[in-house]
Amino acid sequence: MALKIRVDSPNVKYTEDYIEARYEYQTTSVTEGNSVNYTVTPVTTNLLIRTQLKVPKLGLMLVGWGGNNGTTITAALIANKLKYGSLIQASTVRLGKGKKEDVYVPMSWMLPMVNPDDIEVDGWDISNMNLADAMQRAKVLDINLQKQLVPHLMHMKPRKSIYYSDFIAANQEKRANNIIPGTKFEQLEQIRKDIAEFKATKNLDQVIILWTANTERFSEIIPGVNDTAENLLNAIKESHSEISPSTVFAVAAALEGCTYINGSPQNTFVPGAIELAEKHKTFIGGDDFKSGQTKLKSVLVDFLVSAGIKPVSIVSYNHLGNNDGYNLSAPQQFRSKEISKSNVVDDMVQSNKILYQPGEKPDHCVVIKYVPYVGDSKRAMDEYTSEILLGGHNTIVIHNTCEDSLLASPIILDLVLLAEICSRITFKLAYTKDEFTEFHSVLSILSYLCKAPLVPRGTPVVNALFRQRAAIENILRACLALPPENNMLLEHKVH
Ligand code: NAD
Repeated sequence: MALKIRVDSPNVKYTEDYIEARYEYQTTSVTEGNSVNYTVTPVTTNLLIRTQLKVPKLGLMLVGWGGNNGTTITAALIANKLKYGSLIQASTVRLGKGKKEDVYVPMSWMLPMVNPDDIEVDGWDISNMNLADAMQRAKVLDINLQKQLVPHLMHMKPRKSIYYSDFIAANQEKRANNIIPGTKFEQLEQIRKDIAEFKATKNLDQVIILWTANTERFSEIIPGVNDTAENLLNAIKESHSEISPSTVFAVAAALEGCTYINGSPQNTFVPGAIELAEKHKTFIGGDDFKSGQTKLKSVLVDFLVSAGIKPVSIVSYNHLGNNDGYNLSAPQQFRSKEISKSNVVDDMVQSNKILYQPGEKPDHCVVIKYVPYVGDSKRAMDEYTSEILLGGHNTIVIHNTCEDSLLASPIILDLVLLAEICSRITFKLAYTKDEFTEFHSVLSILSYLCKAPLVPRGTPVVNALFRQRAAIENILRACLALPPENNMLLEHKVH
């Protein structure tokens, strides 16, 4: 494997199969006395981090393949492969200081990653429309690009899927003509067969499953039904009415040893689904792509609060005219989105006790309206009102227009590539221990790409965008025994 970056350090060993990095992971532990009295202790943990070099042949199965996102990401991958001018994977990270200036490289150069051109795509949809027609229905891509792609997409037909009318909006019913019949257990078995068949026919090493189907309502968490892995499996056998299609997919993924990512806001990962993934040592990630308004919010509120400016009212209006917006015009599905969008400022607010008393939060309101005419071109309007010096106020108003699916598709790709590389990174916690351990089943490293980040039980949720990005960058650096980017630039600040 030709590596783009080779580290010259006694702490990095390259073998035929692995990069092994000896890494000192440094944290600070704080003991609270009273509120003005803290004892701080630096803590160093010695790690051996091993990254497997061989990149697997990867398959991606999309649930909701014929939707706007499903068709757009599939089209983007094909357009990129055929060099139709698509630009993907454009973000860079600072590697270090060159002779004259800082050197930035694509993030994908840090460690060997799957090449998007090599990903095999397949999927399910409750609508049987082929991907060419579905792409044209979505009206997201430039018409000339659509024409070029039609011959490549027309043979792609979504597999039959699971439809329970109770979970998505009633207005979706007329799309549902491609459904697996039978009991919930039979449907689970069919999804498992689909995964196994795709894996075998395309000769894949790994399959990642990603939900980009319509937003479901929240599932009720019922003791004895979906609270443990065992209860969940039994509930599926009994076709319990509170088990959603997305949870059946998550269960199928865990049982087939696949990573499962949830791009929508609903609580697919009921406690039983999380426990099942933990038992099978598979990865899960979510929830809800962080594409537009929330992404900006997780930058802006971080900036305001960390600058000592106190946001007191955040009001967000959205209108959109695609099928996602149509589905979200139903109250229960809107409620899922509202919940997902509502907690995004919590960690930033809690970080500043000077501005906010315990339990105090800004007023935060989210409105979504369906306006067919604007199609996939979503409008997001936000008003941030903050208290500033001497009782003054500051109001920032933002109007953001963008094709929703063109924002979501690169996020889908990043989620998949990042989840895949995580499956090749293992840790030995002290050099003396023999066992390598993996990332926790709940891949919180994906938080950067998710509106409502799923994290291992009892661990902190980080919403602030740059902290989330720094986590990814610095973990990739740690795999090469490189220190975290500290931005101190002392070499330029001291004589
Ligand atoms: P869409 O309505 O165009 O596509 C969804 C597809 O899912 C449809 O083709 C529908 O037939 C299919 N579907 C519904 N239920 C299904 C099931 N049980 N199994 C298989 N297929 C099913 O919507 P979209 O714009 O592609 O968005 C997809 C999801 O992504 C939505 O839940 C949306 O909230 C979420 N999301 C989108 C963005 C964005 O920026 N586009 C951001 C965050 C979250």
